Amino acid sequence: MRIDKVLSNMGYGSRKEVKELLKKGAVLLNDGVIKNGKEHVDPSLDVITIFGEKLEYKSSIYLMMNKPPGFVSATEDTRDATVIDLLEPKDTIFEPFPVGRLDKDTEGLLLITNDGKLAHQLLSPKKDVGKTYIARVSGKVTEEDRIQFEKGVTLDDGYVTKPSELKILKRGEVSEIELTIKEGKFHQVKRMFETVGKKVLYLKRISMGNLSLDPKLDLGEYRELTNDELVEVV
Ligand code: URA
Repeated sequence: MRIDKVLSNMGYGSRKEVKELLKKGAVLLNDGVIKNGKEHVDPSLDVITIFGEKLEYKSSIYLMMNKPPGFVSATEDTRDATVIDLLEPKDTIFEPFPVGRLDKDTEGLLLITNDGKLAHQLLSPKKDVGKTYIARVSGKVTEEDRIQFEKGVTLDDGYVTKPSELKILKRGEVSEIELTIKEGKFHQVKRMFETVGKKVLYLKRISMGNLSLDPKLDLGEYRELTNDELVEVV
């Protein structure tokens, strides 16, 4: 890849700004000054330093976001702001995308990456990756609802859900629950509660596979996955 492209991908400015950096002699390639932006380098093998600092090149990005309501889980949208709009330019240069969808009004854990293979693994129905949500639901959630969810419920389009685990955290006029499902049909949690005559008022995803939402992340904040999280993610 051209050195100017590598540097601008890594957030060292536009191609023009990078050209200036190179002209100044700020960039070393394997200990020799490199001034020509067109020169090709292999960022995974060559040692590149900028103002004496070694460039840590990465080609993949893995971000955990606490998705706020009001944003759509897509890379582009003609009407609404997307979760990608919340990222800094140094991260969008990797062209990441959200892994799966949360509804516009749903909050919580969203993995954003440019690693298509990982996304596929996490979303594949064969992998049975559990996704856990907490929700506030209108009406009293009952033991019968729990048993129904465990057996599988028939959604409005005739689809029968796989067994899911419902924990009732608080029972009342508005109940609080935790639900783990192993699939991700469109509006699945909301539609599951509709089958037992209840409405989801608030929904937040708290985990996906082995990955749990970092409680330190406020709505709209995100961070890179740690190496441990990355190893454990599926
Ligand atoms: N189920 C839903 O109904 N909505 C979501 O955003 C995620 C799961």
